[in-house]
Amino acid sequence: MEKQPARSTSRLDPYVDRYAARTAGMTASEIRALFAVASRPEVVSLAGGMPNISGLPLDVVGGAISDLVHEHGPVAMQYGSGQGVPELREQITDVMRLQGIEADAADVVVTVGSQQAVDLVTRIFCDPGDVVLCEAPSYVGALGVFRSYQADVVHVEMDSDGLIPEMLEQAITATKAAGRTIKFLYTIPNFHNPAGITLSAERRPRILEICRREGILILEDDPYGLLGFDSEPPRALRADSPDGVIYLGSFSKTFAPGFRVGWALAPASVREKLVLAQESATLCPPQFSQMAISAYLSNHDWEGQIKAFREMYRERRDAMIGALDDLMPAACQWNVPTGGFYVWLTLPPGINAKAMLPRAVTARVAYVPGTAFFADGYGTSSMRLSFCYPTPENIREGVRRLAGVIEAEMELHQTFGTDTASIPVIRTKDYDGPGTDVR
Ligand code: PMP
Repeated sequence: MEKQPARSTSRLDPYVDRYAARTAGMTASEIRALFAVASRPEVVSLAGGMPNISGLPLDVVGGAISDLVHEHGPVAMQYGSGQGVPELREQITDVMRLQGIEADAADVVVTVGSQQAVDLVTRIFCDPGDVVLCEAPSYVGALGVFRSYQADVVHVEMDSDGLIPEMLEQAITATKAAGRTIKFLYTIPNFHNPAGITLSAERRPRILEICRREGILILEDDPYGLLGFDSEPPRALRADSPDGVIYLGSFSKTFAPGFRVGWALAPASVREKLVLAQESATLCPPQFSQMAISAYLSNHDWEGQIKAFREMYRERRDAMIGALDDLMPAACQWNVPTGGFYVWLTLPPGINAKAMLPRAVTARVAYVPGTAFFADGYGTSSMRLSFCYPTPENIREGVRRLAGVIEAEMELHQTFGTDTASIPVIRTKDYDGPGTDVR
């Protein structure tokens, strides 16, 4: 018999046999390639979650950076502390006070975006096979981190008031009964990505109480907390449980993501481990970015800027909800978010969002299929629609195109009487090439 070449000689990846087991979970999303197409100007992308920074005063930011180079260049361009710039950590405590958190700057660890904070917390807590409880659905970037550390995700159901306490109790009981170790509950209580839901004030103490009773740490991921449309920022879970919660914040949505500055506020013991993990990952978070943000916070009306962002996102939320109300087939369902960037839309039974995506892109509209936000294959009939980036006019046009695609899909479904996932997808060469991000 002819000898088969060893897999490691594959022309595509000669190192395939040598990777660590943990890389098995590091796979490019199936929909990644579609986003190369979705980022073309003729496509209205309701897919990406890119903050809309067009309203930032670039002259102010430019001036702050120029001053930084001229006045503090040698420090700003040097290595810094693994925990982050002390002055910025003080300012971060002011930011968190808006959500009821009274913290000591000594307990803040600056990270490379809150994404790195999710990574560091998982790194210090999770062994392969440990369980992380997550909302259903949950943030795609966090699911990727949990997978990369070979942790298993157990999803907990939400409703329009957020995580359901009884479901959390059930998940904890079932997971423990199966002999599994729960390391933490990962939750996005405010203006959830991707579900657009906010945990009700009434449920917050109940979630805290369940986790306290069961000895489960909470990882509270809150990049959107200051971006509510109607009311004061929701009170953080951390505000009422300094020892039971690691709180994650970010400047990506309230200022700009390009600086890559976020933070973790952790109980003192955890904070020490986080700093060690940070030092081994990056030596220190970027000093230049931190000092630039610190200067911006000192010299600019940052709260006024956040207010302007909230108004801009509210206008876009209104455009999307108005268009959905006017144009979507009645059999679709969606929520009305009170902040953040996202609407979660559920399709009529039998319509598969992932199978429909190439047809939507052909109709020049893109979204993220719901399956991206589940670790267990759920979400086939749902999708995330982002309203943060396109103009209100483009949002309406995108919804109009999407409504047309869904109507056509419903007709196909009626004709074939089958789940639309089994209808063949015609791929074109357009779908090859590097993808942009679904974040
Ligand atoms: N958590 C959530 C829920 C997010 O939506 C995002 C970005 N989309 C992040 C964390 C990471 O943000 P960053 O690293 O830019 O702070």
